[in-house]
Amino acid sequence: MANGPSPVINKDLEGEFRSFLGLEGISTDELDLVTYGYDATRKNFPPSAVVWPVETAQISRILRIASREGIPVYPRGSGSGMTGGALPVSGGIVLALERMNRILDIDTENRTVTAQPGIFLGDLKKAVQEKGLFYPPDPASAKVASLGGTLAESSGGLNCVKYGTTKDYVLSVEAVLPDGEIIRLGSKSRKSVSGYNLLQLLIGSEGTLAVITEATLRLIPYPEHRCTLLSRFGSVKDASRAVLDILNGPVVPSALEFMDRVSLECVSAYMGQDRIPPCEAVLLVEADGFELDAVFRDAQVIGEICRRNGAETVRMATELQDRESLWEIRRNLGPSMYQKAPFKFNEDISVPIAEFPTVLQEVYRIGAKHGVIVICFGHAGDGNIHVNFMSHTESDPAVHRGIEEAFRLAVARGGTLSGEHGIGITKAEFLPLEWGGREIELMRSVKRLFDPQNILNPGKIFPEKKPGTS
Ligand SMILES: Cc1cc2nc3c(=O)[nH]c(=O)nc-3n(C[C@H](O)[C@H](O)[C@H](O)COP(=O)(O)OP(=O)(O)OC[C@H]3O[C@@H](n4cnc5c(N)ncnc54)[C@H](O)[C@@H]3O)c2cc1C
Repeated sequence: MANGPSPVINKDLEGEFRSFLGLEGISTDELDLVTYGYDATRKNFPPSAVVWPVETAQISRILRIASREGIPVYPRGSGSGMTGGALPVSGGIVLALERMNRILDIDTENRTVTAQPGIFLGDLKKAVQEKGLFYPPDPASAKVASLGGTLAESSGGLNCVKYGTTKDYVLSVEAVLPDGEIIRLGSKSRKSVSGYNLLQLLIGSEGTLAVITEATLRLIPYPEHRCTLLSRFGSVKDASRAVLDILNGPVVPSALEFMDRVSLECVSAYMGQDRIPPCEAVLLVEADGFELDAVFRDAQVIGEICRRNGAETVRMATELQDRESLWEIRRNLGPSMYQKAPFKFNEDISVPIAEFPTVLQEVYRIGAKHGVIVICFGHAGDGNIHVNFMSHTESDPAVHRGIEEAFRLAVARGGTLSGEHGIGITKAEFLPLEWGGREIELMRSVKRLFDPQNILNPGKIFPEKKPGTS
């Protein structure tokens, strides 16, 4: 995947960076290079240097020098990305944004928050909640994921089924182009049809077009009341039918998550306790709102739909502690799976909701056909299934064939390769399964327009070109 030898940051260049970043602002220490060469894919590509800017002007300068020297630069938040988006695959400089982590303004009149990219999403959500406001995007990694990473991936998470994803909440950004120029896109206005929507082009662009250095986000009132339901089913089929009935019913849940039997086994062992009696599938559903009675009524409607679809038990939790203990199970699912095998390929295909039951059955069939353990959980309310192919080796041809079939299936059913994790490096080779040559060429042209030298996060999203093609 790497594009040739890692560019060298010689002593002169290191000194030039140090002159404006300070002693602590750059490292070529081996430990840092290894550490910042990882992300949640567990792949490692050590860079030539790591830099820690503290202000936009420094980022601008870093990129100007990198452009002059032709050195790749990789924006990095917390490295919790699942597709290798932050990995320095061709060496060069990791631009670590963790020190730009301040909230600059919470504007309660306009219901917005303005923050730097390095803040943990969980901290931002907590700070606005203290003012009675809600920033809905809620990836299971919110405690550790940076705001910048979630903007670059247009992250989703648990609440999208009712509230949408990150892109629905971004009003404006400040960003630095690969040549070092600082731009501002969007405004605090809630509506705008002024020119092309370059703002949205950056959201979900996986750090390949510009470095986001500040963002203003739309907030909504924090729904005070929540009721969480945990429904246990005797079959995946019953659970997935219940998903469709809930989504076609009168109540829009604020979360609708699916977990299969093996997920539950893994998470119970990982957390050292059986919080959920064994069953074939579980739906974790939440209703929220501003009036307790109304929320309770909504939860009862959802519970009734689950029972009608064969739920063996339906447990309702209204107290914070009780609800949190249920969501803790869901948040621990990802890491718990490594008990089954040391390598996990978590593919987040997303399909139209009506296709959810069929696609779910089919992915298990794909796993069985290739002799690979497949564990499924995910954001059922968005048709976004996390299909985890477990393996004892890092590169297993059977797993690769299974993943490709799962992607083909998702696309054939009107869906997409990724609901929220992005393409990064792990899915780049599969992009042509979803998009035609003309569409991919248009995307490549956009990349060239922003980054003619291809120095910002190269090697991501696009499949490598075959020799002889331009
Ligand atoms: C246990 C676990 C659970 C998860 N659950 C979810 C989930 O429910 N929903 C979901 O959507 N995702 C989920 N993720 C994936 C991941 O947490 C998100 O994609 C998150 O947004 C990544 O944030 P990060 O700060 O770690 O980004 P990184 O991994 O550091 O980077 C991700 C991408 O963003 C780019 N980037 C980072 N900062 C900037 C910036 N300031 N400007 C431009 N580009 C930038 C990087 O170059 C890279 O391409 C999960 C991950 C884990 C490990």
